[in-house]
Amino acid sequence: MTPFDTETCRRYALQHFPDICRARPADSHKGTFGTAAVLGGSKGMSGAALLAGEAAMYGGCGKVLVGLEHYPPPAHRARLELMIDDAAAVAAADADVWIVGCGLAQTDSAAALLQHVCQRARVLVLDAGALHLLPKHPLPAPSADTVRVLTPHPGEAAKLLKSTPDAIVQNRVWAARELATRHQAWVVLKGHESVIASASGFLRINRNGNAGLATAGSGDVLAGLLGSLLAQGIAVEQAVAAAVWLHGAAAEWLAARQTGPIGLLAGELPVAVRWLRNRL
Ligand code: AMP
Ligand code: MG
Repeated sequence: MTPFDTETCRRYALQHFPDICRARPADSHKGTFGTAAVLGGSKGMSGAALLAGEAAMYGGCGKVLVGLEHYPPPAHRARLELMIDDAAAVAAADADVWIVGCGLAQTDSAAALLQHVCQRARVLVLDAGALHLLPKHPLPAPSADTVRVLTPHPGEAAKLLKSTPDAIVQNRVWAARELATRHQAWVVLKGHESVIASASGFLRINRNGNAGLATAGSGDVLAGLLGSLLAQGIAVEQAVAAAVWLHGAAAEWLAARQTGPIGLLAGELPVAVRWLRNRL
C-alpha cells in the first residue's frame, strides 16, 4: 500500500478536479452549496439511505433530505442535521440532486417512486435498489439538460447487461461503456479500480482506494458523496471522477491511521472525506 501523503493528494486534485479545491466565498450561505435528496431505506435498510445522507453532508452539500420507505426508522444513530421524512414526502420536495436506490425495495411502489422522481429530477444518481428496478421498470431517456449517473457494482452491472459478475469483471471497460451508451448516462462501474464512462466517450480508471472499501455501506457513501458534489454545482465531468477518487483517498487516509483496511466501517469514510476536502 502506498503511504498517504496529503500534498500529493492536493496536487492530484488540483490537476484533475480543480473545482473541488476552491475555497468557499466568505459570503456563502447554505443555498450556495445545494440541496441533495436521498430516497431509499426500506425495512431493515434505513442505514443505507442515512449513510448516503451523511456522506452528502460531510461532502459539503448545504442541505440534505433523506426519504425513507420504512418510516419512521427504528432507533438509529442518524445525524440531527439530516432532514428525515417519509419517502413519498421527500419525493415531492425540492432538491438540486436526487440520489435514489440506497436500500430501496424491489416493489411496485418503489418503482413508482423512482419514475416520479425521474420526471422531476434534473440530476439523478441511481444506485443499488434503483439499478435493480431498471430491467423491469426502464426509465424514459434523459433529456439533454438532465444528468444521470449510474453506480453499479459488478453484480448490478451484470443484471443490467444480462450477464454474470465474472464476465463483467473480465470486461470492465466494455461493460461501463455499454451501460453508459444504453442508459445515456455517466457510469461508475465499481470495484478495485473503478471504471468511469460517459455516453459521450469519457473514460477514466480510478486507481486509488483499498480493500477496506469492500464493506457494507461503502457504495452508499459513494452515492451520497457523488450527489453532494453535483448538488454543489461541480460539473459532472469533474464530480463523478472526484467522488470516486475522494472515496478512495478517504480509505487510504483511514488506513494510514490504522483505521483499516481491515475492519474499516463505511460510516467512518465521510469524516475522512471532510478532512481531505478541507486540505485540497
Ligand atoms: P458497494 O458494493 O455498492 O457497497 O460499493 C463498494 C464500494 O467500495 C465501491 O465504491 C467500490 O469501488 C469500492 N471497493 C470495493 N472493493 C474495493 C477494492 N478492493 N479496492 C478499492 N475499492 C473497492
Ligand atoms: Mg451498493
